[in-house]
Amino acid sequence: MYSDESSSDELEAIRTERLDIDLKMARMHAEADAWHAVRDRGYCNHGSAVGYRNPPVYEVQRLLKPGQLICTAGCSTIFHDDEDWYAQLDNPMANPVPLPAHTPTPARK
Ligand SMILES: [Zn+2]
Repeated sequence: MYSDESSSDELEAIRTERLDIDLKMARMHAEADAWHAVRDRGYCNHGSAVGYRNPPVYEVQRLLKPGQLICTAGCSTIFHDDEDWYAQLDNPMANPVPLPAHTPTPARK
């Protein structure tokens, strides 16, 4: 058994592809780690939010005007619209919002 030109090219292509995927995965993991680290640093990463709704389902939705969203990940920041939320979700440290220390779980009635 020996490797001819085409099969070694093929192997090279597979290796390059794997490297490419590894790099993508590494970058995704790094981004996810950085995103999660925002919380470890005491800032909200705005990982969840609810939009305006009438009638409101959640108490916090009473604070909203149509189109707005409110962060439910801990900071209660009000976002002007979906785009505003996505922008802050993508880069929470562009406009860091400190999490309240030892955030108590909201009381449920
Ligand atoms: Zn938030």
